[in-house]
Amino acid sequence: MSDVERRQDRSPVPSAFEYAPAPESREIVRLEERYGLFIGGELVDPRSGEYQPTVNPATEEPLAEVAYAGPEDVDLAVTTACDAFQNGWSDLPGSERAKYLFRIARILQERSREFAVLESLDGGKPIRESRDVDLPLAAAHFFYYAGWADKLEYAFPNRRPRPVGVAGQVIPWNFPLLMLSWKIAPALAAGNTVVLKPAETTPLTALLFCDVLRQAEVPPGVVNILTGDGRAGAELVKHPDVNKVAFTGSTEVGKEIQRAVAGTGKKLTLELGGKAANIIFDDAALDQAVEGIINGIYFNQGHVCCAGSRLFVQESIYEETIAKLKRRMGTLRVGDPLDKNTDVGAINSQQQLEKIKELVASGEEEGAEIYQPPCRLPERGWFFVPTVFTNVAQSYRIAQEEIFGPVLSVLTFRTPDEALEKANNTPYGLSAGVWTEKGSRILAMAQGLRAGVIWANTFNRFDPASPFGGYKESGFGREGGLHGLEPYLKFE
Ligand code: NDP
Repeated sequence: MSDVERRQDRSPVPSAFEYAPAPESREIVRLEERYGLFIGGELVDPRSGEYQPTVNPATEEPLAEVAYAGPEDVDLAVTTACDAFQNGWSDLPGSERAKYLFRIARILQERSREFAVLESLDGGKPIRESRDVDLPLAAAHFFYYAGWADKLEYAFPNRRPRPVGVAGQVIPWNFPLLMLSWKIAPALAAGNTVVLKPAETTPLTALLFCDVLRQAEVPPGVVNILTGDGRAGAELVKHPDVNKVAFTGSTEVGKEIQRAVAGTGKKLTLELGGKAANIIFDDAALDQAVEGIINGIYFNQGHVCCAGSRLFVQESIYEETIAKLKRRMGTLRVGDPLDKNTDVGAINSQQQLEKIKELVASGEEEGAEIYQPPCRLPERGWFFVPTVFTNVAQSYRIAQEEIFGPVLSVLTFRTPDEALEKANNTPYGLSAGVWTEKGSRILAMAQGLRAGVIWANTFNRFDPASPFGGYKESGFGREGGLHGLEPYLKFE
């Protein structure tokens, strides 16, 4: 009997390591009491007159008040973006536009600590992730698209690429600054102007980005930021002078947007939800695969559209995999997002926490077996213990619906064909992971998986040069790479 098998009947033992608190100082962040809307290069009072607080999800304390844009504000921002497009920006040589993008990238790097702390304060993600993932990737997107700005004729030879006009962009709360970069960098590189609406619960890094725009001397009106709720997003996407709509968020709202722009001639890309399969074959390097499972579902509290939320384990290694997984889960540290040792931070909002709890309760009611490692949660704030469900049937809600939290559903398979059939049994098709040492099997699985992004022996890897996007209810269109430039261009 192997060591692992011998240990299986014992409950998994959490790591004995005790970590002293290692809090990142929040001194570097200077918050205003109140923020207006960024229109025409300055923060202005909203015509709607409405302000709402934005809250730290780890403490429930209000951080600042932000303006909520109404229809008149949306109209003003779009008109301003139109003027900026017609009066200079679209005629600038690509090499000039590139200079602004390079400046933005450098300033983001210089101010990355300030941005990372603010992102963790407003959104609840661990500082380790905002510092090491969100910020470097956000800067990398600006660098990458800066490089294309003066090479569009080469990128799309013989097609005479031209900017489309005003891009209306609506982004979610899980990667606030990174999603802003995914949207704004290609739009500006292609010569468009922008009106962007951040999510209601995470507006602060977008507002700090307004300062970067001013520092980089981006001409007024080229980028406009409208904070607010879904009403502002709906007004923005239906505004007649918006030529291109880019949305990341839930499938439900994506469908609403698609209906709103149907027949208007606006270009549209939708990056929606997912229920990714992470498939572990019996020849995989199991310890690495377990790290990949952990990263796939507990990174950013599972608030990740491409999260590996359905784990498929080959039956012959099921017991061993689950034992290793549970042991590893016991070492995850849940708590203060600003602590540099934290692995799993705060759930972004109370509403999202309720949604997670409701889906977890449904999993238990439907008959799945729940496991949560021993874990002390902070008394205040919105937190959820990393969770794994075994004995999951494909029909259970926890195997079908996007939970968008630190909750993993485990299923098993015997053959590659069975793995493919089960993995593709979802309305979504955003991403997938395959763990095996056989290159030929990776290629065969990648051919058969109906997902926009497929990782092999890794998970949640992003690069600005690599296109990202989905099939089916995960949306359409790609962001990143040359594919991500195309929706911001028209061809003559
Ligand atoms: P939404 O899709 O509602 O929000 C995404 C963005 O769209 C936000 O800026 C939101 O504003 C805005 N919005 C809301 N309604 C409209 C509308 N009718 N027209 C235009 N824009 C609109 O996501 P939620 O925040 O409500 O999250 C719900 C679920 O969606 C999550 O539990 C998760 O399953 C999924 N989700 C998926 C994401 C992904 O990356 N694929 C990202 C976020 C959520 P506001 O913030 O004010 O609501």
